[in-house]
Amino acid sequence: MLMSQLYAPTLRETPAEAELVSHQLMLRAGLMRRSASGMYSFLPLGLRAVRKVEQIIREEMNAIMGQEVLMPIVQPAELWQESGRWDDYGDEMFRLKDRHSREFCLGPTHEELITALVRSEVRSYRQLPLRLYQIQNKYRDEIRPRFGLMRGREFIMKDMYSFDKDEEGLDESYWAAFHAYERIFRRCGLDARPVEADSGAIGGDVTHEFMVLAEAGEDAILYCTKCGYAANVERAEGVDQEKTAPAAEQKPLQEVATPQISTIAQVCAFLNKEPQDCIKTLIYLADGKPVAAMVRGDHNLNEIKLRKFLKCQVLELADEETIYKVSGAPVGFAGPVGLSVPLYADYAVKHVVNAVVGANKRDAHLLNANLDRDFTVTSFADLRETQPGDPCPRCQDVLQGARGIEVGQVFKLGTKYSEAMGATFLQENGVETPLIMGCYGIGVGRTVAAVIEKNHDEDGIIWPMSIAPYHVIIVPVSMEDPVQAEAARKLYADLLAAGVETVLDDRDERPGVKFKDADLIGFPIRVTIGPKSLEQGEMEITIRRSKEKSSLPMEQVVSEIQRILEGGDVK
Ligand code: ATP
Ligand code: MG
Repeated sequence: MLMSQLYAPTLRETPAEAELVSHQLMLRAGLMRRSASGMYSFLPLGLRAVRKVEQIIREEMNAIMGQEVLMPIVQPAELWQESGRWDDYGDEMFRLKDRHSREFCLGPTHEELITALVRSEVRSYRQLPLRLYQIQNKYRDEIRPRFGLMRGREFIMKDMYSFDKDEEGLDESYWAAFHAYERIFRRCGLDARPVEADSGAIGGDVTHEFMVLAEAGEDAILYCTKCGYAANVERAEGVDQEKTAPAAEQKPLQEVATPQISTIAQVCAFLNKEPQDCIKTLIYLADGKPVAAMVRGDHNLNEIKLRKFLKCQVLELADEETIYKVSGAPVGFAGPVGLSVPLYADYAVKHVVNAVVGANKRDAHLLNANLDRDFTVTSFADLRETQPGDPCPRCQDVLQGARGIEVGQVFKLGTKYSEAMGATFLQENGVETPLIMGCYGIGVGRTVAAVIEKNHDEDGIIWPMSIAPYHVIIVPVSMEDPVQAEAARKLYADLLAAGVETVLDDRDERPGVKFKDADLIGFPIRVTIGPKSLEQGEMEITIRRSKEKSSLPMEQVVSEIQRILEGGDVK
């Protein structure tokens, strides 16, 4: 490709719309342009990187017996009504009607469609296992589209679905996909760590997310350096710890006036207490019924854990009116003493002695509230958000915290969709059974963005060789000089003939401009052709990542580049 013809409009200035480095660089290097909030057009360079990631994914999916299909983006409402997700999916779903007023959505994911696809064809255990995947645009009307490709409303996803005859089969499919994901991200030059995760709206119980550790990540994860446990904060288990110190003496319960003081921070400042001396009592509606949940003052309640523990569909913080009805006080003064709704407490609440709690009365708190003496708890459970510094649930060592970008996720779905949608098969013994499913997603654009987020410097992108849009750029200092121009054209032809993806910067620009663009776009290898070195029959190779330069006899340049390419990446 000739640079004079390449449609890669680079920008000198950082676009105001972009917060994240990867997003800024993708715009500045001319990889893509925004068309609407969370929707992007890929320009040639961006698309080449995307296609390379897709190719790596394809190879690894095919290697685990995945077969590629392509399903429609537009999906009929009826299928989603069968699974029950037409209503559950909410505002994130783009919905539309056809000319006959029939309802459709733009696929945010394809469990329903694939289940409908196989239920009419798969009849017998002999047809299993079956692993089908596609690479296609998905649509989610995210509340906050941001960070460019990281959180778009239209984005490319690889989604694979597995169908097995039993749990063992599912286990095999799951781990085959899991290990394929490890290979895919490694080949893309990413270190993606699998973490235990929550399955959210998709369903199922066993699931891992693949996280690229980065400050810019939207997820918080916890991990243990000793035993390797790693989990999303949403999922990370808390430990029911034994009491360490002997319990302090219980003091008499006492009410204190706390005028307009309702948050833990305010209460602590006012009463000269520490947050861990307090117990927070939160009133929720679980499928419409009021319940109270308690965590220590320095802890946060994890609503996902509470919802799972209560096994309810909808969990929401109670409105002011309900709180008043339940506690007899406005928001901020609820407490466990005398409360008449079921009371669920996090394990850590067990060990708070002489706690500060709300008095169920406006502008009042209680000092020295003690479990069993002053209040009882319906049950204790792991309800709080686990945090860095907490003990590891597996080995009790200390958990570390980090931010992560979720580039992929694998789920064991079980029979959630096959049961709801009647996708069954005949087992060997003739019994009709629902298919056992798994699903496996990778965000293609998000993967490219994560690669850039982890591989750049102040001058621009540093592509891993495996997904670089092009491998080499040839930069003659001046195309006006016929000797340089000829040497550049010859090298260009030789590299193309050797199958090296090469761009020749044939523009009539100052060398500084050409070097800047080359660095910004991030070609892994640059060959500079200047008058002086040419006189000695040499050219200069610069490695983008290390900035290492070396001069080589002209006739060795192609073989040296081939040698570098064969070595895989340029570190
Ligand atoms: P998130 O928690 O980030 O919203 P998710 O868990 O809802 O993502 P999945 O349903 O697991 O996403 O989708 C599979 C993969 O698709 C994700 O791991 C992620 O890489 C990618 N992905 C999901 N939502 C988006 C989005 N809005 N923009 C870009 N990629 C996305
Ligand atoms: Mg996910």
